[in-house]
Amino acid sequence: MCAGRPYRGGVPPRLRAALGDITAEATDAVVNAANAGLARGAGVCGAIFAAAGPGLAEACSAIGGCPTGGAVVTPGFALPARFIVHAVGPVWSGGEQDEPELLASAYRRSLEVAAEAGAQSIAFPAISTGIYRYPLVEATEVAVRTCRHDAPPGIQLIRFVCFDDATLAAYERELSG
Ligand code: ADP
Repeated sequence: MCAGRPYRGGVPPRLRAALGDITAEATDAVVNAANAGLARGAGVCGAIFAAAGPGLAEACSAIGGCPTGGAVVTPGFALPARFIVHAVGPVWSGGEQDEPELLASAYRRSLEVAAEAGAQSIAFPAISTGIYRYPLVEATEVAVRTCRHDAPPGIQLIRFVCFDDATLAAYERELSG
């Protein structure tokens, strides 16, 4: 498959996993596991909307929406991060509805729009593995493979912010593989 595919830029980004709350991350960009309507949701999305403040809902409604597999950027408002990348991962429906491609696309587009905005560092939550029910190990494999191989040249640091021990263990296994 693509395990041996080389990184497409010059110096590959550093990939790191840690336990944490993404609203506290001081990377240039943090990623929200958004819904297609860019509405305030639960999970990491609710935490980001609460911490960013009311400007975020206004910015999201001005954009209007984002298709599954896509990503859009807003300012970070009250967050330490300068930008919020709103990435729409797929809802898991058994794996036959292009979920792996859509999840990879959400990571790839996030990296691209963050780099276009000028970000050099970015923090991701485990997109789709909560309310959207994507199996953790499979989602982690997609996240690490896509970030390892498809990050644009401007991205130097990618942090995977894990909200629980099981997620951190999955990322540590994948990153060491
Ligand atoms: P989705 O709808 O894409 O599945 P969720 O927000 O339900 O998104 O969950 C995605 C992941 O984000 C889960 O692993 C969840 O535990 C995690 N998560 C929830 N809150 C936070 C937070 N504040 N920081 C980082 N990760 C979080």
